[in-house]
Amino acid sequence: MEIKVLKPILGANDQRAEENRGLLEKNKIVAINFTASPGAGKTSLLMATIKALREEFRIGVVEGDVSSAIDAETVSKEGIPVVQINTGGACHLDATMLSNALANLPVDDLDVLLIENVGNLICPASFALGEHRKVLVASVPEGHDKPHKYPVMFSESDAVVLNKIDLQPYVDFDRDKFYSAVNGLREGAIIFPVSCKTGEGIDRWVSWLSEQIRSEQRA
Ligand code: MG
Ligand code: ZN
Repeated sequence: MEIKVLKPILGANDQRAEENRGLLEKNKIVAINFTASPGAGKTSLLMATIKALREEFRIGVVEGDVSSAIDAETVSKEGIPVVQINTGGACHLDATMLSNALANLPVDDLDVLLIENVGNLICPASFALGEHRKVLVASVPEGHDKPHKYPVMFSESDAVVLNKIDLQPYVDFDRDKFYSAVNGLREGAIIFPVSCKTGEGIDRWVSWLSEQIRSEQRA
């Protein structure tokens, strides 16, 4: 009797994410998906990253928020092409939303796409966008137990940026506990302690990111 081996059927979102990936690759764009809880400092990290990398790469941005265009306006002031997606209540970006955003960006003139997902540490893990890397932004005032509470997001991220380290003296945040929790979820996890306010640690983060972008460009 013939034995049937069934491959998992891609869900509609995964299928669309693969189409996005194809379009990104055709245009030689490396896409980075930033996730975080609200207020961790994703937009601030994006701004610091743009400042550091804009000489080397042509950067575009997708801003995901439930409502408002505040973050897109911040990015736009830098003269960077940006599309704001308002999810109208949905707590994550999905691949169709990114596809619409790509249709409204100058894809011929971009090397890098920075995607700021909706502030939420739960369901963005379930919605691939077609991105090349996932970066989770955590911050010191959120506490060192975040990785225990949202394990999937931490385990699926290629790197973790720990923002607002300038606030360390004012809050009970145990950096060793945070590091060991993250490492427990992803062995050899890459963690970048930074302060977008003082600039501390930004160099190391940015040099890792530009190396990731260059390695994808070579691939
Ligand atoms: Mg933001
Ligand atoms: Zn959601």
